[in-house]
Amino acid sequence: MADAGDTNHGFSTRAIHGGQHPDPTTGAVMPPVYLTSTYVQEAPGVHKGYEYSRSQNPTREALEASVASIEGGTHAVAFASGLAATHGVLSMLDAGDRVVIGHDVYGGTYRLLDQVMRRQGLLFDVVDTTDLAAVDAALATPAALVWFESPTNPLLHVSDVAAVCAKAKAAGAIAVVDNTFATPYLQNPLALGADIVVHSTTKYLGGHSDVVGGIAVTADDALAGRLRFLQNAIGAIPGPLDCFLVLRGIKTLAVRLERCCDSAETVAAWLAAHPRVNRVFYPGREDHPGHDVAKAQMRRFGGMVSFDLDADLETARHLASETHLFALAESLGGVESLLDHPASMTHGAVPRAERLKHGFTDGLLRLSVGLEDLDDLVGDLEQAFDKAFA
Ligand SMILES: *Cc1c(COP(=O)(O)O)cnc(C)c1O
Repeated sequence: MADAGDTNHGFSTRAIHGGQHPDPTTGAVMPPVYLTSTYVQEAPGVHKGYEYSRSQNPTREALEASVASIEGGTHAVAFASGLAATHGVLSMLDAGDRVVIGHDVYGGTYRLLDQVMRRQGLLFDVVDTTDLAAVDAALATPAALVWFESPTNPLLHVSDVAAVCAKAKAAGAIAVVDNTFATPYLQNPLALGADIVVHSTTKYLGGHSDVVGGIAVTADDALAGRLRFLQNAIGAIPGPLDCFLVLRGIKTLAVRLERCCDSAETVAAWLAAHPRVNRVFYPGREDHPGHDVAKAQMRRFGGMVSFDLDADLETARHLASETHLFALAESLGGVESLLDHPASMTHGAVPRAERLKHGFTDGLLRLSVGLEDLDDLVGDLEQAFDKAFA
């Protein structure tokens, strides 16, 4: 059978068939969930390529082949969570190496660098990667790795992925993009020059809020070899059932994302027209400062919408408590719509003065627009606004 995961095929074909083959024993269309820790050997050292499930597992391999295919890489290395993948990538570095990170990377990424990796000797500096002059200045000092996201959380800042990656590589640094918010359907950083792409598969790839996982993708054999070694040496692997769930989620990624983007565009427009909304942060809107860059590097603009309510902290918290369909919860990227009040939830650890400096107000709310009927979602927001401002 031809490998339907090759790059001649369209995205959805690769999402469904990439790296997948019917089970040779039974013909099962989906790869079996290989719940086994070990594999029998015919003679000492003679085996079928599988020795122990931390090192090799066929269900995990199926997931890795799938994500490599849809992200345009040649290798993917799966981990137990997005942060385990982040830790795996950072573990390539040595004490004394310097990392440059985007100024609003995922909070857990910052915490890992600040409170764990730093104790082990990694140095890091924070830079606004939307500002290419600032990136140049940060890279005037030697750096081993540059790590950034686009769009970011929760303000949906857009960085020029190709430009930042080119600068990183010119400075001799490994360019890493956390592509969790965009997904491989909307943006492919490897094609834009990144060396490694990281995903929290907990979000859009899994897509159903039922699994936690992470993965690192590359098209570089040497980097893949180092990541593969660290996956086994550190041991933060995902279980086979978790791999199966993510693999199942990936098959519908394109149709889910199309719907998320359709609905998010309408929700963003509705919010922008609302008298109680100061500002909408959505890269698909022409007033977004990164709109042109986003348009050039993304297929569409995603399902995440943030907005600044013209209200104090208490009113924002009140509105956040009044939605029925938008569930008040952290995380994102599932079939169900979620609402987050970053100042009291996901970003509660960021000092208020620091937040305000970056336009991240008390009234900021973040939506992960899911797959419910659009009229119901807008209706839900409308009644919550009415209650909060009654
Ligand atoms: C959730 C998230 C992570 C961390 O992933 P976990 O699976 O929760 O460990 C990293 N980056 C981004 C952008 C995320 O949204």
